[in-house]
Amino acid sequence: MSEHKGDTIPCVGCEVTGCKYNTIDRRCCATEIHVRSEKAENKGETYCSTFCPRGCC
Ligand code: SF4
Repeated sequence: MSEHKGDTIPCVGCEVTGCKYNTIDRRCCATEIHVRSEKAENKGETYCSTFCPRGCC
């Protein structure tokens, strides 16, 4: 079960279940997210810098 019960970002689904912002229905409940990698040219080169492991931050 998610550690956070706030509103989810509309339409943002996320499969990263190890993140503390990930809800039981695999959505993001962070108030905002930041996607990093200024020189990304494909999906694999992007990442969510808002990710925070459960129990660590
Ligand atoms: S903060 Fe990033 S990794 Fe965590 S649930 Fe939201 S979109 Fe996924």
